[in-house]
Amino acid sequence: MIVDTHCHYNLEPLFDSWEEHWQKAQAIGVIASVVVGTDVDSSSRAIELAKQNPHFVATVGFHPNFFRTQEQLTELSKLDALILNESVVAVGEIGLDYFRLSDSATDVEIKELQKQAFREQLEIAAKHSLPVCIHVRDKQEQAYFDVLEILSSVERGNVPFILHCISGPIAYVQKALELGAYIGVAGNSTYPKSEAIKNAIALAPIDRILLETDAPFLPPQTHRGQVCEPYMIAETATHLFSEKSITADQILSNTQAAFLDKLPL
Ligand SMILES: [Zn+2]
Repeated sequence: MIVDTHCHYNLEPLFDSWEEHWQKAQAIGVIASVVVGTDVDSSSRAIELAKQNPHFVATVGFHPNFFRTQEQLTELSKLDALILNESVVAVGEIGLDYFRLSDSATDVEIKELQKQAFREQLEIAAKHSLPVCIHVRDKQEQAYFDVLEILSSVERGNVPFILHCISGPIAYVQKALELGAYIGVAGNSTYPKSEAIKNAIALAPIDRILLETDAPFLPPQTHRGQVCEPYMIAETATHLFSEKSITADQILSNTQAAFLDKLPL
């Protein structure tokens, strides 16, 4: 029994044929799925899907890559209305993504926008007592440490936070675990060159580990180059069990704790 804690049934190419993908996932033991929003449209679709499938719950939020201009920050005011929907269990995915950004003046401004949006969304989550799903990506590692700085400085209550698709330097993982992080293990943990992820999994206590696909992104090793489909979580799970002494039951109870017992299990 597996919960996919981060899946985009709300994005193409999964959205069109979500029922088929859900059936395939169920067939390999997926019992619930968290459908994650990245902007207003995809968050609304996540809510819509959760209305249609009692095994789905939704998150709402703005992905860091959404922010290019100051005016876009006003969009954040739309989150409050979306959050009131009963299928919403978390705010996300939010965070920092410097992967395609340089040190040019324009990009530095975009990084500042991302930081401000991240802070504000953490505050919105705290206001509604909702957990957060955090996305971080940066080839130069700065984003990881900026995330830690923001997590430590924002008044965010005691809500759980999940580092979805864990990556980043081990010093960051260590500090995040000290702050209470849950670690989302995705398909890229199965890649041969995933030393950093391996180290993060080794470091994480067994009560902090979750499973996810991030489908349609990040297919596991035997499906690289293809669209990631939700059923492929089986390969990620098998790989995790080979690397760490942890049971499916333990992961299930971690998952309920991370989402404050709001999953339909
Ligand atoms: Zn995602």
